[in-house]
Amino acid sequence: MSRPLVVLGATGSIGTQTLEVADGLGLEVAVLAARRPSEALAGLGRRYPESQVIVAGGSADELDEFQRTLGRRPERGADAIIEAAGNPGRVVVNGIVGAAGLRATVAAIEAGNRVALANKESLVAGGPVVVAALENHGGEIIPVDSEHSALYQCLAGEPAESVSRLILTASGGPFRGRSREDLAEVTPREALQHPTWDMGRRITIDSATMFNKGLEIIETHFLFGIDYDRIEVVVHPQSILHSAVEFVDGSWKGHFGNPDMRIPIQYALTAPERAVAPGDPFTLAGMDLTFEEPDRKAFPALDLAFEVGRKGGSAPAVMNAADEVAVEAFLQGRLGFLGITDVVRRTVGEVEWRKVETVEDVVEVDSEARSAAAGLIAGVC
Ligand code: MG
Repeated sequence: MSRPLVVLGATGSIGTQTLEVADGLGLEVAVLAARRPSEALAGLGRRYPESQVIVAGGSADELDEFQRTLGRRPERGADAIIEAAGNPGRVVVNGIVGAAGLRATVAAIEAGNRVALANKESLVAGGPVVVAALENHGGEIIPVDSEHSALYQCLAGEPAESVSRLILTASGGPFRGRSREDLAEVTPREALQHPTWDMGRRITIDSATMFNKGLEIIETHFLFGIDYDRIEVVVHPQSILHSAVEFVDGSWKGHFGNPDMRIPIQYALTAPERAVAPGDPFTLAGMDLTFEEPDRKAFPALDLAFEVGRKGGSAPAVMNAADEVAVEAFLQGRLGFLGITDVVRRTVGEVEWRKVETVEDVVEVDSEARSAAAGLIAGVC
C-alpha cells in the first residue's frame, strides 16, 4: 500500500496520529486538510512541503496570516476537500468531525479510493448512501475506530453465515458505576476526563453518555451488514479487548492490544498486510480484565441508539445531529448532562422520519435536526 495519503482533519487527534504512522511507513502525504487555518496546520504544511494544504473556512484575515506562516497559498473551501478525496489512486484518511465528512467519504468511494474511516457521520448519518456507493463503485472502507478495526480483523476471511454475533466493547467512560441520580450534576470538566483513550471533545463527552457506543452500534450495522439483534455491547473498562466475534460453532475471536489508535490507523493503511510498528510492549500476563453488562438505566443513550438504528432511514442522522448540538450546549453550560440524551430522544421524535438516498437528503435531515435540537435546548433553559 503505497498510494499517497489524503489526510482530512489533519490537525485533529486521528490526523496527527496518522501522520506519525505515515512517517513510520514512509508514505507520501499528498493532502493536508482541516476545517480552519491554524498554526498547527501551517506547521504540518511546512513539515510536508510537497503537500497540498486545504482549509474549509476561516476569515480573510486568518487566511492571510495563515498563508504567511505556511509560506505558500492554501486551497480553500469545502469543495476543494471533496475534490481531493475524489482524486483517484489515493488513500483518504477521513478524520473530519461532522457531516462534512460524509461528502468526502462518498467522493472517495466513487473514485475507487480506499477510505480509512474515522468520521462517524459517514456511516451513522449517511449509512444507506455510503452502502449504495460501495455497491456501485470500486472504493472500500477500512475502519479506523478501534472497535470496528477489531471486528474487521476478526471477520477477515470468515463467511457471513458462520458469524453469530458481534460483540462491541465499551470502556464505560468516566462515569461507569454511577447512578442516574449521580449523573444529574456532573460538569463538562468531569466528563472530559476519559480513563483510557485520549480523544477529541465531542467523542469524549459521547463516551461519558455512551452515545459514542450508540453511534458505533449503527456503524457496525452498516459496515458489516449485520442485524441489530446480533450486535451486543459489553463494558470492559481496561480497553484491552477491542471487540470480538462469536461464530455459529461457539468459537470466539477477539482482538487484543494496547489502547493505542496508531495500531488501527496503521492497519487501515496497510490492510490486508501488516507492517512492523514501534509501540509499547504488550502482554496479557498480570492484566486484570473485567467485563460487565452496561447500565442501561444510567446510560439510556445505548438503548436509544438501538431503537434509532432499527428505525433506520433518517433517524440515525437525526440522532447524530441532535447529539452534536446537545454536546455543544452541555460544554457551554447550557444543558445538563442528562439533558443530552433527553434532547436527542425528543429531537428524534420531533423530526419527521423519511428515507435517505442521497447526500443532499442527509444534509437536509441534519440541518432540520440541528434546528429542532437547538429549539428544544432553548426551551429547556
Ligand atoms: Mg471507538
